[in-house]
Amino acid sequence: MTDPIRATADELSRRLTAREVSSVELTQAYVDRIGAVDEEIHAFLHVDTEGALATARDVDARRAAGEELHPLAGVPVAVKDVITTKGVPTTAGSRILEGWVPPYDATVTRRLKAAGLPILGKTNMDEFAMGSSTEHSGYGPTRNPWDTGRIPGGSGGGSAAAVAAFEAPLAVGTDTGGSIRQPGAMTGTVGVKPTYGGVSRYGLIALASSLDQAGPVTRSVLDAALLHEVIAGHDHCDSTSIDSPVPPVVEAARRADVGGLRIGVVRELGGEGFHPDVSARFDESLALLEGAGAEIVEVSCPSFVHALAAYYLILPSEASSNLARFDAMRYGLRVGPDGVDAPSAEQVMAASRDAGFGDEVKRRIILGTYALSSGYYDAYYGSAQKVRTLIAQDFVAAFESVDVLASPTSPTTAFLFGDKLDDPLSMYAQDVATIPANLAGIPGLSLPSGLAADGLPTGFQLLAPALADDRLYNAGAALERLLEEQWGGTILDRAPELEVAP
Ligand code: GLN
Repeated sequence: MTDPIRATADELSRRLTAREVSSVELTQAYVDRIGAVDEEIHAFLHVDTEGALATARDVDARRAAGEELHPLAGVPVAVKDVITTKGVPTTAGSRILEGWVPPYDATVTRRLKAAGLPILGKTNMDEFAMGSSTEHSGYGPTRNPWDTGRIPGGSGGGSAAAVAAFEAPLAVGTDTGGSIRQPGAMTGTVGVKPTYGGVSRYGLIALASSLDQAGPVTRSVLDAALLHEVIAGHDHCDSTSIDSPVPPVVEAARRADVGGLRIGVVRELGGEGFHPDVSARFDESLALLEGAGAEIVEVSCPSFVHALAAYYLILPSEASSNLARFDAMRYGLRVGPDGVDAPSAEQVMAASRDAGFGDEVKRRIILGTYALSSGYYDAYYGSAQKVRTLIAQDFVAAFESVDVLASPTSPTTAFLFGDKLDDPLSMYAQDVATIPANLAGIPGLSLPSGLAADGLPTGFQLLAPALADDRLYNAGAALERLLEEQWGGTILDRAPELEVAP
């Protein structure tokens, strides 16, 4: 039997149900693993050992009493620190929220608790989810378990690294422009951005409200589907939540059959600018899918070349407005300006925001405020919204002839710390292939497609029409099975062993 911390959530669910292991044993094993490796990895900003064990004890007692439980009851989960957890610190990776303890649970948190998943803690992230490397965290970066000299992707590098380093079997991330999928690609994990509105944003600290979406981060496509089903569903607390049934994602992941499936390869999301090894692993994966009965065609989405530019106007605009709530009056950091005896409210706000926000956050507030200012609004924000419509129309046209679209997830493998920190545009370019899905509100999945010559994982992205999330899981699980047959195991079986602290 595999070591429980290396088992998939689906396997753990089976072992728990068969009472081969208790949730307390499992939760403790993960807490021990966090203790052994997290000093090095720094995936967690806060570990809630007591809270997780309390849930585990409760689940074990209910199981012993013969209660019918959710299949994932007792399987631990880690939660990105941008999602509120009642009584457990939540910082969104920002010093401005240091020490803040939310008085309420996000809907995602509430659903995890209702299904009986012990919450191990809160994972590290770029401040307010702005970044592609986790280097913009106010609390120091997370390290990539494949090579601790490299970034784990971002903004959800903590969630991805926790899962890749076997510190959690499951994690929840959020994806505004790629922050679930790109870290997935960097760490050899599976990440899914559901259809916009599929998972409630209530209690998710907003970056860009029209783009943000929470989703699963896991070690298998089926695990992602199992977690997706727990966190998704209509919620009256979120006015953009979709009131329709959750797509049959688990059934689709178990089906894993691409016979007759039409897969469109997006011409604009590959080629120049993509590392040759990333492209090679992508092409090999396509060949496997074709061998399994899928039909591969090339499609063109001409407006995608403007996606990055439109995103970096829309996102800062929404962010500058959302972050106005950090005014040092209601919650969060409050500092007075140096050498001022009786500072005005405005001076306190300015000093607190100056001290509490990092450089990337300030950069985007300035950009967004500028793009929204009178005289520039139509030229910048207004044009970006028009491009957004064109991108959505490109997707509609593409999905008339194919069932799913495919591309590499990210143009590169994990880069070295510091590589892109002084060059925001090259950091932004990490998300060139993931951003179109957020702009159009459609779902996307990234799964590992292999290793580059440098021994680092590469990612394969699938995209589907809104509310057809199940197609991603069907095709993703099929590709995963084909690849694992070839590798003779999972991608993480090929990761170097981490040094374990005594
Ligand atoms: N890297 C992108 C950005 O910095 C995506 C962020 C996200 O998805 N939260 O905006």
